[in-house]
Amino acid sequence: MVNKVSDPRGADSSGIYRRPRLVLRLKRFEDLPSLLSKPKSYPSPIRMVGADYSQTRCVGGDGGTTVDTAGLDRILEFGENSVRAQAGVRVSTLVKALAERGQELPLTPEMGQISLGAMAMTTLPQASYADGMSQLSSCICEIKMVTPQGKHMTVTDRDRDLMRVLRSSFGLLGLVHEVVVRVRPMLPVKIDYQVLNLKEFGARYPALIGAPGALRLHVSPFHDRITIERRTPAESASITRSGIWQIKQSVMRNVLPAFGSTVGSVLAARGLRAAVLSGMHRALSGGSRDVMMYSHEWMRDMPKEAWKARHTYSLWAFPQADYPALLGAYFAFCKSYYKKHRYRGNVVSGAARLHQDRGSLFSASYSGPMFTLEPSSSGEQGWDDFLIDFNEFASSHGGTPTFNQTRALQPEHVAKSFGERAKLFRALRQRTDPVNRLRNSYFAYLLG
Ligand SMILES: Cc1cc2nc3c(=O)[nH]c(=O)nc-3n(C[C@H](O)[C@H](O)[C@H](O)COP(=O)(O)OP(=O)(O)OC[C@H]3O[C@@H](n4cnc5c(N)ncnc54)[C@H](O)[C@@H]3O)c2cc1C
Repeated sequence: MVNKVSDPRGADSSGIYRRPRLVLRLKRFEDLPSLLSKPKSYPSPIRMVGADYSQTRCVGGDGGTTVDTAGLDRILEFGENSVRAQAGVRVSTLVKALAERGQELPLTPEMGQISLGAMAMTTLPQASYADGMSQLSSCICEIKMVTPQGKHMTVTDRDRDLMRVLRSSFGLLGLVHEVVVRVRPMLPVKIDYQVLNLKEFGARYPALIGAPGALRLHVSPFHDRITIERRTPAESASITRSGIWQIKQSVMRNVLPAFGSTVGSVLAARGLRAAVLSGMHRALSGGSRDVMMYSHEWMRDMPKEAWKARHTYSLWAFPQADYPALLGAYFAFCKSYYKKHRYRGNVVSGAARLHQDRGSLFSASYSGPMFTLEPSSSGEQGWDDFLIDFNEFASSHGGTPTFNQTRALQPEHVAKSFGERAKLFRALRQRTDPVNRLRNSYFAYLLG
């Protein structure tokens, strides 16, 4: 029914320790109930894995059975407002297929290696355009899954409370094999950039957050520089396809590669940091300020094996109202940490504005509008220690973490940020899966 992989992965070069006893390649979702019913052949915990790109041990093998969903790779049905697909389909595959039909997702991430199963079940905050939609999981309007007891279940967003719990349940309440994702007609997006120092950012902040559009920031604590990228859907733009393509080439070649994750791999050699950073700012000030592109064109495919990206980052979200002050404190924290420990990660930290989104229980912007802060690194020595102190900084400044993108998370961070929501989830999980068929040690530690 499923292929067994004889050499399960242990800790890989990304430093994430996995250690399942078995890795199974699932071909047919119909096999899930029988797999769940045989703990002797398929030891607990049963953990689903999509693209395996998470930054934490949320997949976590623990001597159990890891189920790889890559074989569930069919897009089943395109509709006017939604698309039905299996859980192993990658977001990049879906987004490209939608673009051919003139459609797009309400939110498009920058990385393509996200499985639809993970999209439905994890917290993936994205630079957002409007209230109610800042987690990728909020694009999901139907989930087909198998419960820990092996029962098939279909949940739609008519059942809002259940959907809210499932949308950040990390495979602890059931195994997802099919989803329906909301789509809309494709629109060109105008992208403009502005480079400010911290003082200017603080002074212009009310206007920056008051204007429409999605905001992505590139924050350089050591250079006192914040690059603001604003994405505004150009509903009435009359831009020709070739016009968009020309601009896209220049952005892709000159600007985007200098940002975010690819920077990590390029910057492995320490001396290159300053060169690349100034290259980015040269590119920004070199004229590519107002550009137009379709959202699928900013998505990049990472290497097939997660560890090859050689890029690690961590993510916390902070209340929008105090964000300029938070950035000031972060700049001071990074400088003082460097002075004391001679360590700094990648010089540019990412950030994104999140509108309030209560579509999932552990949404990073459940309580109100937020901005993320995402320090990154090539994983060199010092990063793990930095994260311990950064987590204390983030938690004491009112930050909200995620279970799949916040590294070195501790139970007290979870309790402080999620409070009653964590208790509610724990109670529900215990009732749904009393024998812990799906729970791994990572979630046992953080959520009980
Ligand atoms: C270099 C890099 C760049 C990144 N850039 C972005 C970005 O631009 N935007 C963004 O949103 N994220 C980004 N990420 C984060 C990444 O997308 C997320 O961590 C996401 O979880 C990855 O999806 P996945 O398929 O790899 O999930 P996995 O790591 O495979 O799984 C995540 C969790 O979901 C559970 N799960 C998976 N499938 C199922 C299923 N079918 N049923 C039940 N549970 C399931 C797993 O058990 C696990 O707990 C980036 C990561 C890296 C390393």
